[in-house]
Order: sequence, then structure tokens, then C-alpha cells
Amino acid sequence: MTESRPLILLVEDESQMRTFVRLALAAHGYRVLEVATGQEGLQQAAAHTPDLILLDLGLPDIDGLEVTQRLREWSLAPIIVISARGQEEQKVGALDAGADDYITKPFGSEELMARIRVALRHSARSSQDPASSVATVGDIRVDFAKRLVFVADREVHLTPIEYKLIVALMRHSGMVLTHKQLLDQVWGPGHAHQMQYLRVYMAQLRQKLEENPAHPKYLVTEPGVGYRLKSREPPAAS
Ligand code: CA
Repeated sequence: MTESRPLILLVEDESQMRTFVRLALAAHGYRVLEVATGQEGLQQAAAHTPDLILLDLGLPDIDGLEVTQRLREWSLAPIIVISARGQEEQKVGALDAGADDYITKPFGSEELMARIRVALRHSARSSQDPASSVATVGDIRVDFAKRLVFVADREVHLTPIEYKLIVALMRHSGMVLTHKQLLDQVWGPGHAHQMQYLRVYMAQLRQKLEENPAHPKYLVTEPGVGYRLKSREPPAAS
């Protein structure tokens, strides 16, 4: 019988944190492989090709940013970095290097499980259905083939830049995109420091897509990191 429960590789040097995460993962039906160093993390990732990697940024040997870079040379598994307060720069660096999301200590098991479900769903979708032509998040629907955007079935006219921005967020829905990733994808390389562009266009997008732009329900700011198109969580699979 093939084992269909997702395998999660946990790379974390604090044993208490490992225990907490291991118990939470096991309680939700995941298989867990745990290691305490970046080196072991790289070895185990290569040996077992986990479905998802939970990676602490502050490791005793190689830091999490470098582990992310080395994993991304060959692995497509979603990476969620576990960061502590004060690791902002490393956290953003790891996301720019290809980590998919982050979670900040201390966190609860429900928050962790929600992040994992989104990342696993996203990777399943991108491997099975790369050409899906319509995506929906809550009331927002994007028809990529026709380049049309709807809010609750009402068509909304977007400028080309606004459209690129919502497409980037939609392709990554539920997960964070850094300022740099958004600037690269929408404006092209070389604009990585023009954060004011992003702020302006994000404000316009909120005006057009959000019921209450001052309190966005979908286009949420991740302070110091970037933006996330918040997808409503379906109930946990039982
Ligand atoms: Ca640590």
C-alpha cells in the first residue's frame, strides 16, 4: 500500500519547538521527519523528497536563508520558514530566495495547519493543472484567458498594471509575496526598490476590489514583508 499521508520535513534546532510541531502535525495526520541542523535538513530533503518543508531560520550550522537557496536549486517542495522576532531581514531574504510562506514564533497549531494546507493545496494545483484559466478567491474571480476580473459577478475594469498585480497575487493566493517579488513580476527586474509604486497600485486595486478599502478583506498587508491575497480557509480535511 502506498503511503498517501503527506510527509513533512521539520528542520528546527529547539527540541521543545520540535516536539510541539511534531505533535500538532501527527494529530492532523501528517507524517513527520525531524532534524536539528541545516545540513541534516538538506540531506533528508534529498533522501525522502518531503511534500513540504518547515524550516527554522536560526539554525546552529547553516542559516535558513542559505538552506532555502540550496533547496531551491533542485526542490519544488513548498517551504514555510519559521522565524523569530528580529529575523525580519532573513525572513524576507528566504522568501525572496523561494520560500513560499512564513510563520512567526510564537504561533498556534491552528495557524500552522492553515498555512500548511494552503501551501500543499497550492503545490497540488500547480502540478496538476498549470493551465487553469479561471481562479476565484472569495468574491474575486479572474478569467486569465479573457483577461477579465469580476467582483461578485460584476466586471471590474483594471489598468494593465493593476491586472498584472492581481494575477500575481491570485497565482499565489493564500501565500505571501514579498515587495521584491511583486515588483519583479509586475514591473520587471530593476524596480525592486520602488515600493511607492506598489503602495499606489495596491491602494487602487483595493478601491476597485474591496468592499471597504480601508479594511481590506482580501488584499492584506504583511508588514515589512509584502502582500497576501487572503483565501478563505476551507474546513480541514477529515
Ligand atoms: Ca532556532
